[in-house]
Amino acid sequence: MGSEAVKVVVRCRPLNGREKALGCRMVLSMDVRHGQCFIQKPGATDEPAKQFTFDGAYFMEQTTEEMYNEIAYPLVEGVTEGYNGTIFAYGQTGSGKSFTMQGVPEPAAQKGVIPRAFDHIFESIQCAENAKFLVRASYLEIYNEEVRDLLGSDPKQRMELKEHPDRGVYVRELSLHAVHSVGECERLMERGWRGRSTAYTLMNKDSSRSHSIFTIHLEVCGTEEGGVDRLRAGKLNLVDLAGSERQSKTGATGERLREAAKINLSLSALGNVISALVDGRSRHVPYRDSKLTRLLQDSLGGNTCTLMVACLSPADDSYEESLSTLRYAHRAK
Ligand code: ADP
Repeated sequence: MGSEAVKVVVRCRPLNGREKALGCRMVLSMDVRHGQCFIQKPGATDEPAKQFTFDGAYFMEQTTEEMYNEIAYPLVEGVTEGYNGTIFAYGQTGSGKSFTMQGVPEPAAQKGVIPRAFDHIFESIQCAENAKFLVRASYLEIYNEEVRDLLGSDPKQRMELKEHPDRGVYVRELSLHAVHSVGECERLMERGWRGRSTAYTLMNKDSSRSHSIFTIHLEVCGTEEGGVDRLRAGKLNLVDLAGSERQSKTGATGERLREAAKINLSLSALGNVISALVDGRSRHVPYRDSKLTRLLQDSLGGNTCTLMVACLSPADDSYEESLSTLRYAHRAK
């Protein structure tokens, strides 16, 4: 596959209230026209800024609308044509992953990637002629390398991963829900999201410690010229990754540390898979190293499109984390 199938963009949010109150300085800058990001080590102004180039760079005031139209639109369009696609946001907690994926209702231009993808898919269904569509959604969570169905009858039940010669890797008994409108997709997403957070409040855990995958499965049966029916199936994975912050910094111990090791394992496995795909020369793509990469196996690489949005804080006190996010994202290039 060509490197075109994997796109990586970076997005830097504005300084937040806490950072402003602390008097943080900005260490990030961008040349958005050329997809470049510069990071300056705090207190080392004599050192040149480190520079990274991506498929796109979005700075502070730029909107999710711009980003979606430029980079996510073709990927989702591909899904409506029967290809698989995956979009995920990477970055430390507080860097803007949910802002990018879930978004905010106001201003409209900052509506998230996920609701935009819902709109996009249902619009293209409405415009299609001579075709029948079946749209279904599933929503799962990977926490501590265990898979749970966020829309199942028992969200605490651990699900098993299975491998089938034709179907590939799948989750046994994962519930699939037929959806007919954007509103139904949104309600499922909310229901799953709530399931996720209540489970965590009970266990006194914070939801940014799990990975979740909302998948839209799209089947299109169309009549082509000559009257032949053709079935196409594509799916779109919308992935909300756990925060990438390194745990040495947060002083985690015991259970928290084990949990962190699992998060890091999935994130580094994902990085390894993407860089093997981008490299194109590696014969071995290490999908099997984590549940996350096993589950996404049929949607990463091959005839699929992947978009990673690496989210960044511009503040000097996030320098180390931002540099590590930039390096991770750049390796995926
Ligand atoms: P994460 O999901 O990575 O933990 P959030 O998306 O919750 O981070 O973002 C943290 C805070 O920063 C939120 O209050 C969010 O509204 C704000 N924020 C993030 N990105 C942007 C942006 N591009 N523009 C304005 N505010 C942002």
